[in-house]
Amino acid sequence: MKLLEYEAKAILSRHGIAVPNSTVVRRADARLITPIVLKSQVPVGGRGKLGGVVIVEKSEDIAPTLERLLALDIKGHKPAAVLAEEKLAIAREHYVSLLVDRNTASIRLVAHPRGGVEVEDNTSAGFLSVEIITTKITVCAEKLAAHLGYEPNIMTPLLTKLYETFVANDATLLEINPLVFTKNGELVCGDCKMELDDAASFRHPEWDFEDKPQNTNFVVLDPHGMVATIANGAGLAMATVDAVAARGMTPANFLDIGGGANEQSVLAAFEKIVAFPEVKAIVINIFAGITRCDEVAKAIVAARQQITLLPPLFIRLAGTNYEAAAALLEAEHITTLASLDDALTTAQEAIRA
Ligand code: GDP
Ligand code: MN
Repeated sequence: MKLLEYEAKAILSRHGIAVPNSTVVRRADARLITPIVLKSQVPVGGRGKLGGVVIVEKSEDIAPTLERLLALDIKGHKPAAVLAEEKLAIAREHYVSLLVDRNTASIRLVAHPRGGVEVEDNTSAGFLSVEIITTKITVCAEKLAAHLGYEPNIMTPLLTKLYETFVANDATLLEINPLVFTKNGELVCGDCKMELDDAASFRHPEWDFEDKPQNTNFVVLDPHGMVATIANGAGLAMATVDAVAARGMTPANFLDIGGGANEQSVLAAFEKIVAFPEVKAIVINIFAGITRCDEVAKAIVAARQQITLLPPLFIRLAGTNYEAAAALLEAEHITTLASLDDALTTAQEAIRA
């Protein structure tokens, strides 16, 4: 999941890393003091070059600039908000990032002395790239300092905190570009791109961001399909789709609700499904391990109460917290079926009827 800049910077700030003073603005009539930097909050980089980052010097320019930024589409994204930041007096701009290196199963530090909007044009030869491990932060910080042209004592605390932030938040990417060296001699994170590991969401109840996880677990198979599917685990979800098709019914979608599924995320799936006009049955196939049957049951009950014209449900549940789920569903007179086979047979009969 990609965070917006202001969400990422709030996390940095909580870990004691220097970021510019700022406020999040959602209306053009916000009261702000110049000079100020206005930055469109879209989940993509390269905003500077596309007019999404504007330094405003005169107060009368604030409202029109906000209005323009709030309406400006950047690479297909309308901003959720505008981040209004104190203007930094930039002496130097660097590129510093931490990322998961899947080839070596490690965290890698990548840096370039010349950061900013042109970093993609830099030659790859100029990048520092080293594996970073807890026991060797100081060594890494020394390399980073040498590469960017600083004394190690200024880099060690920063890199230590960046690494802590990365690990504590289950990040897969933490990119600071630019890391600004100000004319006052301070290192401040001018911009931050942060991506979190969706698979770790179960241990982060605090995660609540504007850009919800990119739901790659939901795949549209046929917009005219007659049977929608909800399952957990990619394997079971595929098998469910196959079983629907094997019965001569057209599956509308593939959905793996994932191990960290809760009432909200499952309810969101129901909302997607009702957008399919020809769905006549929803087959739910849950074999719960990490997933909890009662969370799924709560979502089913909520969907029945909240969604008008919800197609009939054919439910097979087994595993963790099944008893609690069965009680919840029974209280609402929602029947469950003993096997996927039973669910499909019943769905087939209902569709034919
Ligand atoms: P991006 O283009 O989406 O990566 O947006 P950034 O937040 O990185 O901003 C792009 C560029 O705008 C930076 O590299 C800086 O050169 C410039 N910029 C951003 N904030 C400030 C600031 O406070 N002061 C000054 N002088 N320039 C800034
Ligand atoms: Mn940037």
